Amino acid sequence: MKEHEKKRNLPFILKKGAAGRLPAVPEAALRAGRILTELLFPGRCPVCDRPVEPPGGDICGGCEGTLVRIREPRCQKCGKQLQDAGAEYCYDCGRSRHVYDRGAALYTYACIRRTIYRFKYRGRREYAVFLGRALAENLGGLILSWRPDALVPVPLHPERERDRGYNQAELLALQLGKRLGIPVLSGYLARVKNTRPQKELEGAARQNNLKKAFKIVQDDVKLNTIVIIDDIYTTGSTIDAAALECRKAGVQRVFFIALAIGKGL
Ligand SMILES: [Zn+2]
Ligand SMILES: [Zn+2]
Repeated sequence: MKEHEKKRNLPFILKKGAAGRLPAVPEAALRAGRILTELLFPGRCPVCDRPVEPPGGDICGGCEGTLVRIREPRCQKCGKQLQDAGAEYCYDCGRSRHVYDRGAALYTYACIRRTIYRFKYRGRREYAVFLGRALAENLGGLILSWRPDALVPVPLHPERERDRGYNQAELLALQLGKRLGIPVLSGYLARVKNTRPQKELEGAARQNNLKKAFKIVQDDVKLNTIVIIDDIYTTGSTIDAAALECRKAGVQRVFFIALAIGKGL
């Protein structure tokens, strides 16, 4: 393609905040602008990864029904789906103790696996809008019942965040915090060790891998109750390692919310 053709093909971008500076812009023009933006930059569906159908939503009408939510009975500790309604804890939580108090996840791992993969590794940060909304609609009541002072996303190591361009757990926490009116403390906890991905490790190696991986870096806030936000809960060792540092800093109650529970990616 020749240089002048490239220029002509550059999409027209609506400037952020333009409407605020020009209060006289009629509503119809703003609406036209939004429609134009959607036509040029259609949001991708978190399930099929095609432009959302019908346009304007954050997920296709037909795709939403394919997602499988975790229902009761759930493990009273990690929130994993239980088969036996009489059981209190899942097999794992019955055998080992956790540092956190309690948590819950929204989806079964199998139904959301490919969505999370693209959300983390293929730059689909726009998925956070639907995923944050789904978390708020389905687990918002539970989160609010814990009366948290703040949501704390599981941090990425700065090098990994630089490579990826964003922290997917932070995007989820921001969407969730906005909808539930809970502050998000992205700078409270830092990842100071660039650990190997947990998916490559088993059992005890997972815990050793995370030793001293997290550190509280914002020590001017006094928090009593927090909810740690992550994308996938697997064995709980990441949440436990983060919770341990928070407890050392005086946090009394530590909960977690994850998008999915199951095997790691
Ligand atoms: Zn779709
Ligand atoms: Zn459990």
